[in-house]
Amino acid sequence: MKNYSKMFMDIAELTAIQANCVKYKVGSVIVRDNRIILQGYNGTIPGFINCSEKFHDYDEIKMFNDHHIWSSAFEVHSEMNIICYAAKKGISLENTIMYCTHTPCNNCLKHLIQVGISKIVYKNLYIDNINFKEREELLQYIILEKYNEI
Ligand SMILES: [Zn+2]
Ligand SMILES: [Zn+2]
Repeated sequence: MKNYSKMFMDIAELTAIQANCVKYKVGSVIVRDNRIILQGYNGTIPGFINCSEKFHDYDEIKMFNDHHIWSSAFEVHSEMNIICYAAKKGISLENTIMYCTHTPCNNCLKHLIQVGISKIVYKNLYIDNINFKEREELLQYIILEKYNEI
């Protein structure tokens, strides 16, 4: 029997390798009818300096805050990158499934709900800066499923 789920997660992980962030490498794919229609990873806007260049000597202890502030301003999360690309190209994400290497942050989650994605399958739990009370409320509107590695 074909294991599509594994194929999609493998591709999400391969996509994540492309990310230039020194802290997180996140990859996502959008699936409809068992076919990938879009994929994305986290990164800066086109033409802007990459995180790996800006923080080439990144030190987790010394630069955690600096990176966080810079990243919030200039880095686009993998999930939002997909939403923005879909908007630019006029591709509907309604009733699709997103395979993502990490659970989305609350901001991405809110927007994934708003564009009509019906389910998110994730592999790793992302817990930095997550407000879990609000997260629980958001999860009433979308299915968040842990990837089942077989
Ligand atoms: Zn970064
Ligand atoms: Zn996010």
